[in-house]
Amino acid sequence: MKLTRRTAISGMIALAGGTILPRLAWANATLTVGSGTLDTLSDGHLVLPRDFVLADIPKADADAVLADFGLADADTLLPDCNLTLWRDGDRVVLFDAGSGPDFMPTAGHVMAAMDALGLAPEDVTDIVFTHGHPDHLWGVLDDFDEPLFANAQHHMGQIEFDYWTDPGLPDTILPERLIFAVGAARRLEVLADTINLFADGAEIIPGVTARATFGHTPGHMSFEVAAGDEMIVVLGDCIANHHIAFARPDWPNGSDQDTATAVATRTALLEQLADADTVFAGFHLPTPGIGRAKRLGETYEFVALA
Ligand SMILES: [Zn+2]
Repeated sequence: MKLTRRTAISGMIALAGGTILPRLAWANATLTVGSGTLDTLSDGHLVLPRDFVLADIPKADADAVLADFGLADADTLLPDCNLTLWRDGDRVVLFDAGSGPDFMPTAGHVMAAMDALGLAPEDVTDIVFTHGHPDHLWGVLDDFDEPLFANAQHHMGQIEFDYWTDPGLPDTILPERLIFAVGAARRLEVLADTINLFADGAEIIPGVTARATFGHTPGHMSFEVAAGDEMIVVLGDCIANHHIAFARPDWPNGSDQDTATAVATRTALLEQLADADTVFAGFHLPTPGIGRAKRLGETYEFVALA
């Protein structure tokens, strides 16, 4: 595997304490995997209140881990959003569609990253969803509520699709996530007649195999992407940050809908990824979001691919 990177810096962001950091307007990293190429495309980043992610962890415990990443006492977390693009033969596969314009002003910028690669939405042959959260799904429609990736076959796990399109969901989801339910249902309704729904273990595209990683959402899927004798895993959000998810995968993450299932998925997956020295791409890992899990006794650390 060979990694090359291009980035463009535009705009600045102010952090607590007056520090000014440049933000990437777009970024991509290209990884050669067998006969294919894998790019991560920046969609921008999220701005999350600390408590949305860390409310269920005692503050001192969380800060002890976050201090190693310069994030102790941070009131907000700014996770990057990396879409994975896979090109092999005539397939142009985009994993997740990004936030689009209606979620957060700091996200929904993947078109700039695609543009930099000389790609238009019409060039994408397949959109493969890891799950139905806004930062993964909401970018799928254009301003006229038509599919933005007009020539693409869309794919989503059957369980995930059934969850977000259940008419009873708005009555049962946490009130602060009602917008997630309404937003997902509206978009999936447009895709419903043509979307490919699949189960764990399905090879949905030649070389792309679905792998159930439930818990973050009820039907969350990761994907093994193989070409020749090389393989990389597209994680989605089942390992959703580079700090606590690796250092203490057994701790709860407020963005997971089913904490116990998410913890079981995360701990088992990290063990497998570390033992097999598997390269993976993580949606919210620091851009470009590609690396490995290194075992440190009972815990792990994220090692970005150099
Ligand atoms: Zn998510």
